[in-house]
Amino acid sequence: MTDRYPPMPPRNPNPPYKRIATEEAWLSPEIMKRYRKEIAEPQINDPGFTQLWGFFCGDHPMAEAQRRRIQDLGEERIRDMDDSGIDMAVISLGSPGVQIFDTDTASALAEAANDELAEGIAKYPDRFVGLAAFSPLDPDRAARELERGVTKLGFKGGILNGHTLGTYLDDKKYWPVFEAAEALGVPIYLHPNMPSAQMIQPFLSRALDAAIYGFACDTGLHALRLMVSGIFDRFPNLQIILGHCGEALPYWLYRIDFMHTRISTTGRHPNVPKLKRRAWDYLCDNFYYTSSGVGWEPPIKYLMDVIGTDRMMYAMDYPWQFEKGEVGVLDAMDITPEAKKAFFEDNARRLFSIV
Ligand code: MN
Repeated sequence: MTDRYPPMPPRNPNPPYKRIATEEAWLSPEIMKRYRKEIAEPQINDPGFTQLWGFFCGDHPMAEAQRRRIQDLGEERIRDMDDSGIDMAVISLGSPGVQIFDTDTASALAEAANDELAEGIAKYPDRFVGLAAFSPLDPDRAARELERGVTKLGFKGGILNGHTLGTYLDDKKYWPVFEAAEALGVPIYLHPNMPSAQMIQPFLSRALDAAIYGFACDTGLHALRLMVSGIFDRFPNLQIILGHCGEALPYWLYRIDFMHTRISTTGRHPNVPKLKRRAWDYLCDNFYYTSSGVGWEPPIKYLMDVIGTDRMMYAMDYPWQFEKGEVGVLDAMDITPEAKKAFFEDNARRLFSIV
């Protein structure tokens, strides 16, 4: 049995790899302003947003610190990266990003945020790369923005913050985004949002709605909806990234595969088509996984074992789970030097085309 709370060993001061953190959040001051306005004068009915940002727009010292850090693309972020041993950060728009706003507002905010993030990255090109935000509500404009982000602004993929007003992107109307991602050869990071209004109620009364558990439920559901919809038969080279050690899906791999085979081949549900490959194959070949928020050796090694060392990447989940000592624990993992370098550096360089 592993020690539940082992002391964090000091990090390797001179590791034979760079540490690239792949799920690091940023929000533009304009979006933050709109979150605060929404909390003060609610216009939308999203209990998840109200619960999460009601706290983080408040005056608790932790909320103030997180709010300050998440809007920073300058000295404080660099200092925090230095203090925690992070060489490079893959920065993306924090949750729920623009995905609570109306169609036109959301698209315009995503485009402005992308410009602003690109400017911030340009000041620290050796430390930052980014993912493009988009609003799924206008799928064609989202696809164009993903293309602009990659080809004009230098972004390395796209960021999707969970459901969009309770809708999930397995709906074919949203597929232009995935078509664009596949054509551009870039991944989409499927990052958590709060559970949608349809599912959040039983989580709320015990504060199980956010990163503690609700995020994983909604995001894991979203990933499985994509998989069973046949999206990877339509876009076989599409790559989706899941954080938090895969939102626990790799742990479910055997049973998901067994049951999906049974359901899809008996034709018992009209919305679950028979697919070309098995669930197991899609979860291994169309997904990358990161350790965000899980600075713990056993699940990271499990993922490397069942999915592969070539698909598991490091992430911190800054600023939400900023742990200065985390990389010391992961430097010390009992895995091969090659697997460790793949985890911290090589897989991210390859997937995000970081030179
Ligand atoms: Mn995150």
